[in-house]
Amino acid sequence: MTTDTIVIGGGLGGLAAAITLAAAGHSVSIIEQLDRVGGKLNLVEVAGFSFDTGPSLLTMPWVLRELFATAGTSLEAELTIEPVDPLCRYVWSDGTVFDMTPHLPRLAAEIARLEPADVAGFSRFLGYTAQIYDAVAEPFLARPFRGLRDMVNQRMLRDSLRIDPLRTVDQSLRTFFRSPRLRQVFGRYATYNGSSPFRAPATFNLISYVELTQGGWHVRGGMYQIARALERTARRLGVEIHTGVAVSRIVERDGAVAGVQLADGSSIAARTIVANVDPRIVAERLRATPQPRPAGELSYSGFVLMLGVRGVDPLLRHHTIFFSDDYRREFDAIVGRGVPAEDPTVYVCAPSVSDPSVAPPDHSNLFILVNAPHTGQYARWPAEAARYRELVLDRLERNGLAGLRGRIVVERMLTPHDLEQRYAAPGGAIYGLASNNPFAAFLRPAQRAAGLRGLYFAGGGTHPGGGIPLVLLSGRAAAQHLLADAGQTP
Ligand SMILES: Cc1cc2nc3c(=O)[nH]c(=O)nc-3n(C[C@H](O)[C@H](O)[C@H](O)COP(=O)(O)OP(=O)(O)OC[C@H]3O[C@@H](n4cnc5c(N)ncnc54)[C@H](O)[C@@H]3O)c2cc1C
Repeated sequence: MTTDTIVIGGGLGGLAAAITLAAAGHSVSIIEQLDRVGGKLNLVEVAGFSFDTGPSLLTMPWVLRELFATAGTSLEAELTIEPVDPLCRYVWSDGTVFDMTPHLPRLAAEIARLEPADVAGFSRFLGYTAQIYDAVAEPFLARPFRGLRDMVNQRMLRDSLRIDPLRTVDQSLRTFFRSPRLRQVFGRYATYNGSSPFRAPATFNLISYVELTQGGWHVRGGMYQIARALERTARRLGVEIHTGVAVSRIVERDGAVAGVQLADGSSIAARTIVANVDPRIVAERLRATPQPRPAGELSYSGFVLMLGVRGVDPLLRHHTIFFSDDYRREFDAIVGRGVPAEDPTVYVCAPSVSDPSVAPPDHSNLFILVNAPHTGQYARWPAEAARYRELVLDRLERNGLAGLRGRIVVERMLTPHDLEQRYAAPGGAIYGLASNNPFAAFLRPAQRAAGLRGLYFAGGGTHPGGGIPLVLLSGRAAAQHLLADAGQTP
C-alpha cells in the first residue's frame, strides 16, 4: 500500500494535520494504535454515564472554526458548542466561593466581594493581558514556527518588554491584585498548558485574556464529539483511518522517510510522515537507529477519578475548583519535588449541569482531576493510587460535597501510569511539554524533524504547546511545513 503521507497517531494534532493535507489534495492515512481516534481527548461510557477522559473545556473555538472551513464545512454544521457561564466556580476550604464570569460587570462585583481595591487592579490587568495577546498571538500561534529566526525578529524584539517574559506569572499578579485568593484564581491559568504559576513566564497571563474575551465552551453531547466531528470530516476528504494497529518503526532510505512498519507485520510506503506521537517516543522507539532524547521539561500529569453519582450537588457548576490552602507549596510538591500534593487543588467537572444527555436522570457524571507529578519524577502511583483516592474524596466531602462516597454508582480511575501507557505519552504528561521558564518555547522540538527528510511533528510535544487549540494549530502548522517543502502554497 502507498500513500503520500502517513500520520502516526489520531490525536487532535494528527487529525488537524490530516485534514489540512487532504484538503490540499494529498492522500493521507492515519494509523492509530487505540480502537478510536481522539488521543487524550477520549471517552468512557458506562451504565448510562458518558465521561470525557481528557479535556473538559474548549477555549479559542476559532481554531476549530478555521479547521472546518479549510475542509469545506463549518463549526456550526459539525458541532453544537455552548458558552459556559460561570467559566469556573472557585471554592476555598473556609467556604468562600468566587464565580469567574466573562460578564465584566458581574466579574467586577465578584472581585469587589473579595477585595474592593482589586477592581481597579483587574482593569489594569486586562489592559496588560490584551497587550501580551496582541504581541504573541500572530507570531507564535497563527504561523508555522521554524525556530529561533521566527522569534528573534524585529517585531519580537520590539515587543519583548510588552510580553513580560522575565517575571513569573505570580510575580506579575502581585502588581495587580492585593488579594491572595485573586492571585490564586488568575495564577491558575498557567496550568492550562501544564505549567506552574510560580515558574511560568508572565507572558502566560494572556490565557486569562483569551478565556475572558473568547469564552470557555462546552460541546453538546460531550467533548468527544470534537473527535467524532474531526474523524467524519477527515473521512469525507478521503483520509484513510486505521485504528487498533500501532506503528512499530519508521522506514528510512537515504536520509529520507520511506514509510512505516506496523505492529501486525505489514508496511505502508509514503514520502512523508507527520508524527502526532511524542517526539521522544519517535526518537527512542520509532527511528531506525535510536536518537538522543529531545530537550524540554515534561508537563505534569494528572490523577483522574470518574464518578457516576446519584443526585446533583447544588454547589457544583459545570467547572468547579476546590483550591488548596497553599498554592505555592502545592506546586513545589508537584513540579519542584516531584511528589503528589498532600493538600491538592481538586478540579471537578460536572458536564451534566449543562447537558443532561451525559448522565441518567437525577445523576451526575463527575470528572475529577488533580495535577500530579509525571512518572519520570514519581514512580509509586500504582501503589499510592488507593490512598490518594481517599485523600481526594475526603477533601471534597469536607469542602462541600457531603456524602459523596455513599452516592457513587460507577467509578473509574486513571493514574499517570495509565495515561502514559494508554496514549504513549512520556511520563503521562497531560500537556506534553511545560513552559516553566522563559526559554521553554525555544527548546521545543522543531516541527520539521532534523536529520530525516520528510518527517514532521504535530501535537503537545512540539510547537506551540498542549491543550486543544494549540495542538490543532500544531497539526495545521506541520501540514503547512510539509506543503511548503513539497512546493505547494499552504
Ligand atoms: C486528564 C486530561 C485533562 C485535560 N484537560 C484539558 C482541557 O480541559 N482543555 C484542553 O484544551 N486540554 C486539556 N488536556 C490536554 C489535551 O487533551 C491535549 O493537549 C491534546 O488532546 C493532545 O493532543 P495531541 O495532538 O498532542 O495528541 P495525543 O492526544 O497525545 O494523541 C497521540 C496519539 O498517538 C497515538 N499513538 C502513540 N504511539 C503510537 C504508535 N506507535 N502508533 C500509532 N499510534 C500511536 C496515541 O494512541 C494517541 O491517540 C487534558 C489532557 C488530559 C489527559
